Amino acid sequence: MKKVLVLPGDGIGPEIVSQAERVLAAVVAKFDLDIETSHGLIGGAAIDATGKPYPEATDAAAKAADAILLGAVGGPKWDALDMAIRPEKGLLAIRSQLGLFGNLRPALLYPQLASASTLKPEVVSGLDLLIVRELTGGIYFGQPRGIRTLENGEREGFNTYVYSESEIRRIAVVAFEAAMKRDKRVCSVDKANVLEATVLWREIMEEVAKDYPEVELSHMYVDNAAMQLVRAPKQFDVMVTGNMFGDILSDCAAMLTGSIGMLPSASLDQAGKGMYEPIHGSAPDIAGQNVANPLATILSVAMMLRYSLGELAAADAIEQAVVAVLDQGLRTADIATKDEQAVSTTAMGDAVVAALNA
Ligand code: NAD
Repeated sequence: MKKVLVLPGDGIGPEIVSQAERVLAAVVAKFDLDIETSHGLIGGAAIDATGKPYPEATDAAAKAADAILLGAVGGPKWDALDMAIRPEKGLLAIRSQLGLFGNLRPALLYPQLASASTLKPEVVSGLDLLIVRELTGGIYFGQPRGIRTLENGEREGFNTYVYSESEIRRIAVVAFEAAMKRDKRVCSVDKANVLEATVLWREIMEEVAKDYPEVELSHMYVDNAAMQLVRAPKQFDVMVTGNMFGDILSDCAAMLTGSIGMLPSASLDQAGKGMYEPIHGSAPDIAGQNVANPLATILSVAMMLRYSLGELAAADAIEQAVVAVLDQGLRTADIATKDEQAVSTTAMGDAVVAALNA
């Protein structure tokens, strides 16, 4: 029996996660899988119920689970809270508590959606890149950090960009292993012309590359990488980078594909246990309207079945069902062109379940 902990979170989280759960239930029935799901609180929903964004009960359930399916956290309701107990802290806490250091973010352009991208179809059609982002280190976690008052009375904000050799090495291994299953090219993104921490990053990437002679390693400064992603994104196979650069570049890569609502992600520990979530946030602007695109979360279920639960046929079936609904012309508002009639979150979920059972 495999245990999946479901954490719907805030905003559109519960809406999209409930569609993803219907899809999971459909593959469990179709493939006779031995998977049990339970639910927990995280983010603003957890703050409202317990005062904490990542309560002990959620931590215990997450540690006992084989995989976690997350919606999204955060929203204006909690924006005025102290930074230490904001919903987003729940996300950082679960990633670091579970040692989920390896974030895999595929950016795949479905040919059916080429016109939804803001870039010219010839620039993006056929795009298939994987961003491997380090998730538990770097400036988002580095100490010391804070806002202090200087002797002259002026306040100063400060953070620390820090990476140890072992942190760099293990994310490099994730990237090279992923590249071995793809086009065998890794582009490491850093700012080695300015930041010493990334000089070390570059050195370790070179060292790990020696263990993967078939993989071609290149380096790129993050400013150029941002430019190249919108100029000629098809040049990339696997991009590996630190926490902050990966955060920014992966959202940019997401938009190349037409919608942030289409992209799943996996965050893995060293043993392959993982948390799976759409790359987008809680979208408070559309929450509660039944218009959010549930496909990123549904595709996150496919990644979960593939990377943590070992159910490859079920994962493939979900991905094929998503292709089928796109072929049928179903589009939520975020991926509909102005001539296309948008369908609701639940209608998209219905269609994926129907395609799975067809
Ligand atoms: P967002 O990703 O929530 O939304 C950005 C834009 O994309 C919005 O216009 C939104 O409507 C749209 N969008 C996002 N997901 C969509 C979907 N599935 N279907 C259709 N449209 C979709 O980012 P934001 O507005 O910067 O942040 C909103 C809140 O989410 C904030 O509180 C932020 O901290 C939080 N956040 C959480 C996560 C997470 O839980 N992993 C990630 C990013 C942001």
